[in-house]
Amino acid sequence: MSERKLKNYIGGTWLESDTTNYETVYNPATEEALCEVPLSTKLDLDHAVKIADEAFESWKNTAVPKRARVMYKFHELLMDNKEELAKLITIENGKSLSEALGEVQRGIENVEFAASAPTLMMGDSLTSIATDVEATNYKYPLGVVGGITPFNFPMMVPFWMFPMAIVCGNTFVLKPSEKTPLLSEKIAELLEESGLPKGVFNIVFGAHDIVNGLLEHEKVKAISFVGSQPVGQYVYQEGTKNLKRVQSLTGAKNHSIILKDANLDTTIKNIISAAYGSAGERCMACTVVTVEEDIADEFIERLTQAAKEIKIGNGLDEGTFLGPVIRKENQERTFKYIEKGLEEGANLILDGRENLPSEGYFVGPTIFTDVTTDMTIWKDEIFAPVLSVIRVKNLQEGIEIANKSEFANGACLFSNNASAIRYFRENIDAGMLGINLGVPAPVSFFAFSGYKSSFYGDLHCNGKDSVEFYTHRKVVTARYGQEDI
Ligand code: NAD
Repeated sequence: MSERKLKNYIGGTWLESDTTNYETVYNPATEEALCEVPLSTKLDLDHAVKIADEAFESWKNTAVPKRARVMYKFHELLMDNKEELAKLITIENGKSLSEALGEVQRGIENVEFAASAPTLMMGDSLTSIATDVEATNYKYPLGVVGGITPFNFPMMVPFWMFPMAIVCGNTFVLKPSEKTPLLSEKIAELLEESGLPKGVFNIVFGAHDIVNGLLEHEKVKAISFVGSQPVGQYVYQEGTKNLKRVQSLTGAKNHSIILKDANLDTTIKNIISAAYGSAGERCMACTVVTVEEDIADEFIERLTQAAKEIKIGNGLDEGTFLGPVIRKENQERTFKYIEKGLEEGANLILDGRENLPSEGYFVGPTIFTDVTTDMTIWKDEIFAPVLSVIRVKNLQEGIEIANKSEFANGACLFSNNASAIRYFRENIDAGMLGINLGVPAPVSFFAFSGYKSSFYGDLHCNGKDSVEFYTHRKVVTARYGQEDI
């Protein structure tokens, strides 16, 4: 399999890229080379955009219920292929099979939501805005839309974008992460089998050249980006400079606050899953816990014990909880962060550099205590199974610490005190909140609402925002005279 060179998917045809430059895709659990992904050229991209633009002419005029029916068929095929899709995710990304299945389910829910397009795309009207005058608002697709996605959710994140974009009548060019390109190949096959007309969905594999090509191309009307903060900021600034509509979902540093009335059994289960699931490579991962002093010792002791019991290994193996990080560089980068935490005076009570499998890019569950907000491990998004614990006097101090972060993606509170819950909701900066749960990632019909440096733009992915993002409006104001009646 390692020799296999991926091809771009343009106009319903698998086309060899114009490039001679390929990058190897690895299974991070075994270090096995899976395939070669082309770092495609702007010529490849121009071709894809041209084809997508041509396809737009008839797709935009295809009746909305007919477009939605493609989603019904696609949904059926996704359900039939759930296991295969999940296995592919585990092989190229490393997360456990049960987490991969969860990801597939989340993707499928986006297709369910997109299938409601006939309702979601309805405009609204007012029969009487003045004597004999009425106003109606209509929604129209934009044209060619570009999607740029990260490695950590090879299925779910593209599904935040293309189902709604295409059901609204746009055509789509996907640039998947070059580290996890295989799942998108399968998506294209299933969309084709669903009866999607050629050219409506296209894939151009590659890296920054394709991103820049999408940002510069005059026919690309909107860009959906999900990835790290520096790249997301760049994409937002360049895209808007080129007068495109851009939504850019970026990095995170999610805090969980644990109050003394919390049920510690369920809280610890939730924190273990939120901090170490998917090897911490989730934009909604729990990276910092602030815990009330009264229960801090007991919490830390029980959390450490639970973390030590985590099964590390290949995500395809039964019972594996913690898979590898994506590449050797990510493993080495994480080890450097652990070193930095020690240098800056944090207390390393569980060291993820120890007792690792002999092959694969693994990092074990890591816990630092005595972390302060001037430390690099508190500030940076490490994107690995490294958790910082901070003791706090009360809820107010926990919120103050969380709000110091430049990021504001998710935050969780563990408590059953209604007043504390309300206070938390009213005062925390983060855009996606969890109460007594660890990963508050909203379902498809709610917007994925990151804030501060976790999001650049106005309209988020998912929910009603996504319909607004992928459409533009015409408001018709019409006078109807009485003379001819
Ligand atoms: P990344 O920023 O390295 O890559 C994301 C995409 O941008 C990829 O397609 C990549 O090819 C492209 N890219 C990378 N460097 C580029 C450059 N210099 N110029 C132009 N394009 C470039 O992110 P990643 O490592 O693949 O994914 C992890 C990041 O994604 C984390 O920061 C995580 O928090 C974030 N993420 C955020 C959300 C969210 O909803 N906020 C969801 C998932 C992941």
